[in-house]
Amino acid sequence: MVLINKKIRYQVEDVLSGKNVWGKYVFLKESETWDKSRIEEYQLTKLRQLLEHCYNNVPAYRGFMKQSGLNPDNITSLETLKQFPIIDKQYILNHYNDFIPTNISKIKGVKSSKTSGSTGLILKYFNDSNCRSVVWGSFLRFQDWMGRDFNNRYIVFRGRNFINESIFSKLKNGFVDYLEHSKTLDSYNLQDKDIEVLVNLLKKNPKAILRGYVLNIVDIASILKNKGLSYSIQAVSTTAEPLLDFHRKIIQDTFNCGVFDQYGCGEIEGVAYECNQHKGLHVTEEHVILETDNNDELILTDLDNFSFPFIRYKNGDKVLLSKNKCTCGRDSKLIDKIIGRSSDNVIGLNGNPVHWGYFHHLLIYTNIATNRNLQKFQIIQKSLSEIVVNIQSDPLSENDKNILIDEIKAKLGEIHVVVNNVENIPHSETGKFKAIISYVTNPQ
Ligand SMILES: [Zn+2]
Repeated sequence: MVLINKKIRYQVEDVLSGKNVWGKYVFLKESETWDKSRIEEYQLTKLRQLLEHCYNNVPAYRGFMKQSGLNPDNITSLETLKQFPIIDKQYILNHYNDFIPTNISKIKGVKSSKTSGSTGLILKYFNDSNCRSVVWGSFLRFQDWMGRDFNNRYIVFRGRNFINESIFSKLKNGFVDYLEHSKTLDSYNLQDKDIEVLVNLLKKNPKAILRGYVLNIVDIASILKNKGLSYSIQAVSTTAEPLLDFHRKIIQDTFNCGVFDQYGCGEIEGVAYECNQHKGLHVTEEHVILETDNNDELILTDLDNFSFPFIRYKNGDKVLLSKNKCTCGRDSKLIDKIIGRSSDNVIGLNGNPVHWGYFHHLLIYTNIATNRNLQKFQIIQKSLSEIVVNIQSDPLSENDKNILIDEIKAKLGEIHVVVNNVENIPHSETGKFKAIISYVTNPQ
């Protein structure tokens, strides 16, 4: 009964939006049982179609193919992909028009988007309805992994602009909420009355799924915990920021359920999702070919986006791949850890970059994270010789602060280190949390 209900809901949405999410979801439910060789066979079929399209319509990729002696008839294995150069945002910006397909007006449902990023490079790119259908289909499959029950609410915290929303988008978003049996709340408003709305929703829907940016959910979990409230909901779904171990712990302490992380970037969405075994994030290999270089930097090929193809695209994020197979039995590649952006570094006096993960580990192994109920931290590098560490936690002792200062100096050199214990660390303008703000690597 519930399944029919769910099917009708999504089919109505597909008719209204011109997508085929339900069809892709049904396919992806089957393909998740495939073994590696079958997945690779499927990837090769899709890669061939993509490269044929690129050869005929996308000047930048046609150029690469001609240089390597490739054409649509000699793509014989996935290894062929290695003959393409690795490109990044800067490269695309420098050759922008060559990346737009000459037949873009014939591709169905093309929409444009823009990346934002700490590097300041903004890329306008496109995606099409087929690509969006696959991404949303993979997301629907992810909801199954979380054990979503349509009788219970799906509560989403979003950072969109609720105040200046037009009546049309209010109606549209309200209808989507109705179809998906979800409730969208404003992630920027966590006042008492907003928390009360959430508390009432959780009361009525004990098996709800809660979704939002990592730090947003951590904030909510901390607020509820401070009020002495705890729940036992179905799942928490996190996105957009690296989910660290202590975040997971805070969330689990309040909601007593599995935390399901996902990974994607604006340009290529739906890259990987965590299953209920929590052994890593399963790569959506039906949608992307994922490689990493010697430096663990991600290289992604989107098999579905024909309106702005990304082939061997380095998005600036680093990940560690798992060597193990997941205990759920699915054979897809697993991401063990998302390290985040390679630009999230501070620079030592000796010029060596230190990744923000170092500060995370420092707070863990000094036991400050656990003893002081750490919620967030942020490092601001004002200059090569001055660093400010803001820590949102229970009160730190002078000893805690001195330990941190000594350790950071040992790592970065004889610099000036200030440790502040703060009540709140604000998010950036895009709503994402930045663990590192550097005036050295990103002068502002
Ligand atoms: Zn799994």
